[in-house]
Amino acid sequence: MSETVGVDIEELRELIRQTRAHVRRQQLLGVERLYVAWPEHPGKPPEPSSTLAQVRQTLGECTRCKLHTGRKTIVFGVGNPQAWLVFVGEAPGADEDQQGEPFVGRAGQLLTRILEAMKLTREQVYICNIIKCRPPANRNPEPDEIAACEPFLVAQLQAIKPKLICALGTFAAQALLRTKEPISKLRGRFHDYHGIPVLPTFHPAYLLRNPHEKKTVWEDMKRLMREYEQLSNTEPLASAPEFS
Ligand code: SF4
Repeated sequence: MSETVGVDIEELRELIRQTRAHVRRQQLLGVERLYVAWPEHPGKPPEPSSTLAQVRQTLGECTRCKLHTGRKTIVFGVGNPQAWLVFVGEAPGADEDQQGEPFVGRAGQLLTRILEAMKLTREQVYICNIIKCRPPANRNPEPDEIAACEPFLVAQLQAIKPKLICALGTFAAQALLRTKEPISKLRGRFHDYHGIPVLPTFHPAYLLRNPHEKKTVWEDMKRLMREYEQLSNTEPLASAPEFS
């Protein structure tokens, strides 16, 4: 026996039109690959419609991966819950673990100066990491740790609904984009993360060691601002000089 499913043809046409427009836009941005579903992970994931506060509540005093044993504080994220721009780094370091806030050490202070050069404050954007607990000796997060923690990053992004993401550094870019390409190849152009354009750039900690790359990062920040101006039809956010 066949089963008939009721479909509103006009709604379906509009959905197809929007999907085509989205794919076309990603192509114009240079995106080569699109994800078609949110990743599945074991354990109870946050509800897709959760607010940031609900995502934090579901995370609780998390013990979903082995990093919980060495952490002092869960570093959830900070900033505007409706930010148009989200910065995603790698993992908390010692300062962040102490204070419970991402990007508060020397690299974080440089990120704050980058934002100031963009005429933005930390309160206007949202800042978080791929994983929320400090790895021992600041080693790179391991695949099982990312698998356990990423649903909460995804849920944060679903709650915030940013127009753009900036991936800070090799690890954040590679983890978000599921690639092994080096940051030098990934940076400077937009990629796609679940429908949100992602611009990878160098991590502020790398800039502290390689200050000559600040010009490169500033070029990337100008790309972000231009893209936002186009997406939101707003006045230019900044015509500011480079940060130092
Ligand atoms: S890193 Fe993420 S998944 Fe692992 S214990 Fe911390 S909050 Fe939980």
